[in-house]
Amino acid sequence: MDKFEVLNKYFGYSEFRQGQQELIDAILEGRDVMGIMPTGAGKSICFQVPALMLDGITLVISPLISLMKDQVNALTQLGIKSAYINASLSEKQQSMVYAKAQAGRYKIIYVAPERLLTPVFSEFCNSVKISMLCIDEAHCVSHWGHDFRTAYLDISTFISSLCERPVVTAFTATATQMVRDDIERLIGLRNPLRVVTGFDRENLYFEVLRPKVKLVALRRYLDLYSGRSGIVYCSSRKTVDELYETLLKDKYSVTKYHAGLTKQERRVNQDLFINDEREIIIATNAFGMGIDKSNVSFVIHYNMPGDIESYYQEAGRAGRDGNEADCVLLYGAADIRMQKYFIDNPEENSDLSDEEVEALRRLRLQKLEKMIYYSTKASCLRNYILNYFGERTKGKCNSCSGCNGNDMSVDVTIPAQKVFSCIKRVRESESKRVVIDILKGNETQYILSKNYNELRTFGAMSDSAESEIEKHIDHFLKYAYISEKRTGSLYLEDKCTDILRNRKRVRKFVEKSEKTVSATAQDVDIRLLLKLKTLRKLLAHKSGVPDYSVFTDFVIVKMAMEKPKSIEQLRKIEGIPEHKLNKFGTVFLKEIVRHCDENIEKELNK
Ligand code: ADP
Repeated sequence: MDKFEVLNKYFGYSEFRQGQQELIDAILEGRDVMGIMPTGAGKSICFQVPALMLDGITLVISPLISLMKDQVNALTQLGIKSAYINASLSEKQQSMVYAKAQAGRYKIIYVAPERLLTPVFSEFCNSVKISMLCIDEAHCVSHWGHDFRTAYLDISTFISSLCERPVVTAFTATATQMVRDDIERLIGLRNPLRVVTGFDRENLYFEVLRPKVKLVALRRYLDLYSGRSGIVYCSSRKTVDELYETLLKDKYSVTKYHAGLTKQERRVNQDLFINDEREIIIATNAFGMGIDKSNVSFVIHYNMPGDIESYYQEAGRAGRDGNEADCVLLYGAADIRMQKYFIDNPEENSDLSDEEVEALRRLRLQKLEKMIYYSTKASCLRNYILNYFGERTKGKCNSCSGCNGNDMSVDVTIPAQKVFSCIKRVRESESKRVVIDILKGNETQYILSKNYNELRTFGAMSDSAESEIEKHIDHFLKYAYISEKRTGSLYLEDKCTDILRNRKRVRKFVEKSEKTVSATAQDVDIRLLLKLKTLRKLLAHKSGVPDYSVFTDFVIVKMAMEKPKSIEQLRKIEGIPEHKLNKFGTVFLKEIVRHCDENIEKELNK
């Protein structure tokens, strides 16, 4: 199989993304590589595709012990034989993994850096063929990065201890020159191919807000994003706990995550979020690394982080599925004090001399200055980030609050005409609820008793969610296009006449994010989408994996839009690997066909 066939068969994708092919080709030629790509760009495929093509085992060194199980489960779902070795396994289980690996059962094995120099592991590595050593989150080797991990320094000794040197590959999202040089030197990469892809994530919208009261602003955003999945980052455990309590009382669908919780609590809460049982996770920066939840559609920073690297990495957890997503920073002057406190009270690090500790302190202060600049003065937020990572930019991006301000206006003439016309047709005698039912096309007893289902406006907004129709009506009420009688019935004000006659248009100023919500709701059959999500949950539960491991949201939404009727049509949807097509394809098709048949029946019975 060539690399394209592997990409298609195991991952269901038809094209490589920027940088992937170059890196894979170099690895297959036996050359060391260093891949520097932003979060969500697709680093995993760069080592997983060649791992499947090389004859021996690929060892992946990863700092994320807590997630190794999930990573291996996700690979298993793709039909890729893999395992992990870490302290969560008993001695007996570890021996079993070693034995199976020696029998050639695994292509990829995940391991924590702390294990590399242990005698048992060394012996194992010299008893099998290791074709590739992959260092994930390679910036952990550098003191100048933001996640230094002492055990990463053992990697070069480990490589020298192997009888045969494998091809060595390193990946990170941290792009500063100092960190890149450290990775190359401290890991001992040999003449590596360095690939630095563009750092821009076009589907992300960046926004900085300096609200008087952060909690009020946060609530507004969460209301706007209702029904979608998102992360709220805070700088301290205390803020996480407080926000969690407050939002829970306000009935938001929240969970929380920080290093002060027990391992068990963290696991449970993380799963609640990953499986879409809670919409929002409130967390410190302890949450997120290595989590491939593709449908995160907003990341709000309740506090400013200490540097642009951390901010971009955390914000980059939004929109991995390629859909539009928002990254909002709620800035307040107190954030600076908090970050300065962290800089002046660093964690003990016995590996560093006093001079190095001081140099590190100064470096962190410089980085903080840049973060403050982003939060307070940057004219185009995206360009500022990209320039920080050494990329040149041309002109404004027009996709951040620096370019657009925090408000944007959208044309809502069409929904206005539908709402006004509906109110007119019921002779200004019905309440908001009934108007919503008519526009949405709900056949309630009341609607049928009044024959409203025969009106021309019945179902005129059936493609929109009820909450969206309600938002429109509220807006028209607020700006006095319509009013409410004491009885609750809606009536039209004079200025509606011009709009109904197409003489004037209506514009609405909304937060950009609201615009995105309405755009995505358009072409999807919502009822089918819900059915497919329920089915996915059931199958995921049966296999003991997160929902997105069955199919990502992107795939599910595409199914609800395109309604494929055969395996061939289903295969054309990007992101369905062969293994999953065989395993789940037929049952999803059945659900789609059943839904479509029901709809036809309903039409016939009308
Ligand atoms: P990173 O490790 O760089 O943060 P991942 O490797 O987790 O990113 O990939 C992010 C998402 O992009 C995943 O859902 C992955 O399946 C998807 N992806 C990666 N490569 C491709 C590709 N060539 N085409 C489409 N989607 C891809």
